[in-house]
Amino acid sequence: MRHRVGGSHRAHRALERSETSKWAVYRLSMARVDWGMAADGKRNTRFELATDRRRSPFLIADARALDFLNSVATPVDTPLEWIESGQDLLSWLVAAGLISPSVRAGLQKSAVPGELDAVAAQARALREWFRSFVQEHKGNPLRQDAVKELDPLNRVLARDEAFGQIIPRDRRHRRAPIQFTWRFERRWRSPDTLLLPIASAMADLICEEDFTQVKACERSPCTLLFVDRTRGHARRWCSMTICGNRAKQASHRARARRLKSGRH
Ligand SMILES: [Zn+2]
Repeated sequence: MRHRVGGSHRAHRALERSETSKWAVYRLSMARVDWGMAADGKRNTRFELATDRRRSPFLIADARALDFLNSVATPVDTPLEWIESGQDLLSWLVAAGLISPSVRAGLQKSAVPGELDAVAAQARALREWFRSFVQEHKGNPLRQDAVKELDPLNRVLARDEAFGQIIPRDRRHRRAPIQFTWRFERRWRSPDTLLLPIASAMADLICEEDFTQVKACERSPCTLLFVDRTRGHARRWCSMTICGNRAKQASHRARARRLKSGRH
């Protein structure tokens, strides 16, 4: 937020401080959400250090493709874009566990100026195309004729240069009679290969998730997307810590107002 000149300066600084503290509270809450998810061992959630100038992404969707759609969002009041540049894209992918820090380092070294930023623009375009697909189909089972809409995604997937490697099984399977397993890797020849893990996550969502349980947070203007994996399919918020509590407070205030005005 920029400072204005003259009389409004002080008021503006106060506003800036309040915005900053609101954001800090939000970050703290989201950090708790992330750590909680990591602690139960089910999520492969990574959390960037607070020293990174980029904001940590929200990995609350329970599906990486939706986390990617959530990389532009309005979690408090102001719209936030996580992927403004190529460096942002690399940071987001590392934080989401979709590329390793060594892949990031390799591409940072080999990319020519502007190349990574151009891929970030393609990633945003893919994101907005996929958002319209998800918005159209969420809440209902995916019909087979939806495949007609998937050409853009299939075109990206067709570029993949994945390959398999035989590696020893990890130690947990030490006693298993079979000692080796496949590991699938990808050649990261150029920055536009960064679209491939994103496209794979989108394909996973389409092929493996029940779209009936793909939902948007009900608190306006948040609209972060997620897969509802709760037993009773009752998840309504991106996170209870933020939107759930805010919605509860709002309905509590509305009830108090009704009581005060004598309407029950
Ligand atoms: Zn929300």
